[in-house]
Amino acid sequence: MSNVETEPAEVRCGVPVDGGRPAEAPGVDVLAARDVPLGGPRAMRVRRTLPQRARTLIGAWCFADHYGPIDVATAHGMDVAPHPHTGLQTVSWLFSGEVEHRDSLGTHALIRPGEMNLMTGGYGICHSEVSTPRATVLHGVQLWVALPEEHQNAERDFQHHIPEPVRVDGAEIRVFLGSLAGDTSPVRVFTPLLGAQITLEPRATITLAVDTAFEHGLLVDSGDVRVADTLLRPAEMGYVRPGIDTLTLVNESEDPARTILLGGTPFEEEIVMWWNFIGRSHEDIVRAREDWEASAQRFGDVEEYPGSRLPAPALPNAVIRPRRNPPPR
Ligand code: MN
Repeated sequence: MSNVETEPAEVRCGVPVDGGRPAEAPGVDVLAARDVPLGGPRAMRVRRTLPQRARTLIGAWCFADHYGPIDVATAHGMDVAPHPHTGLQTVSWLFSGEVEHRDSLGTHALIRPGEMNLMTGGYGICHSEVSTPRATVLHGVQLWVALPEEHQNAERDFQHHIPEPVRVDGAEIRVFLGSLAGDTSPVRVFTPLLGAQITLEPRATITLAVDTAFEHGLLVDSGDVRVADTLLRPAEMGYVRPGIDTLTLVNESEDPARTILLGGTPFEEEIVMWWNFIGRSHEDIVRAREDWEASAQRFGDVEEYPGSRLPAPALPNAVIRPRRNPPPR
């Protein structure tokens, strides 16, 4: 997906802060979602929990959009024209619906529920994403992973994986990145990372062994889920600091609770995010924007998209003041 805000801010991520919440503060930080239209007068809206002022990164996870359920028979679904990416991987994960993906590697793929699609756009890639009319309810998440500096120009790549559901007492888990509950995803990433769908049965409590070096974010899609002393409502993300070796989740609702658990070792590099680009400096962003506007081969071309590509928005006149991440510990 594209960040199609008309005036995207430049966000500096990963910089330790003064004046943030104390690292040793107990409990879970609740990251509320911001409602963002994906461009156009009747565009679909997404609930964005990353980046935000209080937190720009969880591990290398740098962007989290949550959308739907949207009935694409009566409302506008997803139709994101070809747009570029640099310095990141996109992770598409659906709960329901179907999205047709085309990219400048020549990939033409259908994104379906329970199937992870990860696209790597290091030096440059472009892609389009269009929901299909075959499945009427569109519902899922779009996540981005920042690439570390030594891999920021990684080759274009596209990986697909269908995790086998893992049953534990009280929940079903699908591990799309990293390792959890005895399952390990074969998908290649560049920093230690976790991504999994966890669906809790009504009133269930589960305790999962987690990597003590990881920080975690639990995004609630449905249900009310308690993590430590904090109750998370649908569309909220709960941030949990590193240093724990188990994570206990309690579904306090009478229905199944569906969540996405993200994790990773704190990403210690400073990055600059603007629109669909990640770089190390404002100059990197300016260059990527110019290259896209000049149709440079850096990004390649998407074949067979019925329409024109997305133009880059104007850059802000001034470099936006850094938004800083509280130290993880
Ligand atoms: Mn995209």
